[in-house]
Amino acid sequence: MKIRELFDKKTVFSFEVFPPKNTSSIDVIYRTLDDMSGLNPDFISVTYSAGGSGNGGLALDITSKVDSLGVIPMLHLPCINYTKSQIDDIICKAKEQGIENILALRGDINPNIPPVKEFAHASTLIEYLKTKGDFDIAAACYPEGHPDSDSLEDDVDNLKIKVDSGADHLISQLFFDNAYFYNFRELMAKKGINVPVEAGIMPVVNKKQIERMVTTCGASLPHKFVKIMQKYENNPEALRDAGIAYAINQIVDLVAGDVDGIHLYTMNNAYVARKISEAVSGIIGI
Ligand code: FAD
Repeated sequence: MKIRELFDKKTVFSFEVFPPKNTSSIDVIYRTLDDMSGLNPDFISVTYSAGGSGNGGLALDITSKVDSLGVIPMLHLPCINYTKSQIDDIICKAKEQGIENILALRGDINPNIPPVKEFAHASTLIEYLKTKGDFDIAAACYPEGHPDSDSLEDDVDNLKIKVDSGADHLISQLFFDNAYFYNFRELMAKKGINVPVEAGIMPVVNKKQIERMVTTCGASLPHKFVKIMQKYENNPEALRDAGIAYAINQIVDLVAGDVDGIHLYTMNNAYVARKISEAVSGIIGI
């Protein structure tokens, strides 16, 4: 089933997982997916390495597992480090597996890997995918602007190109202050971008995640969020519960604000996905 068909019917609720590191067993993520599928997400998306880590093949295996559990899979496809023939190969395998839903991405530019640039932007990949079959195509968007852009306004102008190229719906980068998302939605409407947008929510539930947030993520950390993280950073159980509660509060507010969907960055944590799903099931209608 194509994900774009869901938005007219309900507030879409989806999970994102990533393939395990090469050292970790695939069975761990398979067990996680067994648990997550029982939570009835509308779809589960699987990240794909932009090149370098070599775990791209696992993403296809994992989408296949998602499908076997009766959940709609979405395959992420970053293009910047792949040649056209490598992209063709992935599309061909995706088709063989019956994958209908693809999140078309540029991928981050790794300073140690010179980009191939046959597909310089996600929009180029989207145009190409349109010639390759009837895929449902999603694209990424950035409520606080993409770090490569000079301004949020410039980034939204580029987002318009991406949507005009054929993106059916969007999934946002994570954010911790819903005001950025509402402002972004207004800006999109002003620029004539009308496709559904899922809000990306990342429950921050351990100290390692906090450190990563602070150094790499680019999302603004509101005072309220920092205060909570500082208070509980040395108490793992309290931090986990506080992170879950913070994400639930964000979701409740977003649903009240008529969000099209919630995309949960689960970090492969079925416990966290369960707690959040249970808490919001009534308001989202899971
Ligand atoms: P683009 O849409 O190409 O945008 C990148 C930059 O170029 C932006 O500044 C944009 O404004 C500008 N731009 C876009 N189009 C044009 C144009 N036509 N002309 C001029 N400038 C333009 N990365 C992975 O490697 N694997 C994953 O699985 C993955 N999953 C993700 C899932 C989500 C929901 C999100 C939000 C991100 C994900 N990423 C993933 C990260 C993503 O690849 C990076 O954020 C990357 O830097 C940008 O990708 P993009 O598709 O948004 O790129």
